[in-house]
Amino acid sequence: MKKEYIRNIIFDLGNTLVYFDFSYFYNGIAEREKKLSALKFRKYIFDNKLDVKLMSGRISHREFFRKMKRKFDLKIGYNDFIYFYSDIFWVNPNMKRFLEKISRIKKYRLFLLSNTDSPHITFIDNNFPFVKLLRKRVLSYKVKMAKPQKKIFKYTLEKFKLIPEETVLVDDMKDNVLSAQSLGIKTIHYNNHKKFTAEFSKLVKGIS
Ligand SMILES: [Mg+2]
Repeated sequence: MKKEYIRNIIFDLGNTLVYFDFSYFYNGIAEREKKLSALKFRKYIFDNKLDVKLMSGRISHREFFRKMKRKFDLKIGYNDFIYFYSDIFWVNPNMKRFLEKISRIKKYRLFLLSNTDSPHITFIDNNFPFVKLLRKRVLSYKVKMAKPQKKIFKYTLEKFKLIPEETVLVDDMKDNVLSAQSLGIKTIHYNNHKKFTAEFSKLVKGIS
């Protein structure tokens, strides 16, 4: 049997390379606006699927801001609002180290596949420059598709001419992992760094 080698690594962003918590956004705005309840603010966003619409490029951040401003009578300006919206991330130091190391050895082609939007990715590139090591990217808001849809994985494979069996997806979301697997992509469900490095070294040695 022909041995398959991993040549391509596709990284997820949120809760893989960097951690995030949207409560920083809700609480930040609520603190500034006094009368506003962070819970109500959050509920409105979820009930109206505004988070999903933003990352799939279906509404702009200007529209998002205008909607929230109208609904909650916000005093805050657009730039501050977007800053609170974006300042929700912190680094995963283990993954930072891993990515820096693996990009140095130049053995693999590296990719970023993220459900994200333009303020978030801009904030990430400015504040976590190691993510810029991943220059080949598929971003949900640009392609108007999102994980776990199979079509975004197919699109990624085709765009970069990747053979699924030579490709591994590293992602914290089980649904994304399952969707990629159904196309023959190798996967590592990322939730613990030690487990990840063990699975990764097995995979690249071909013992999977
Ligand atoms: Mg994630």
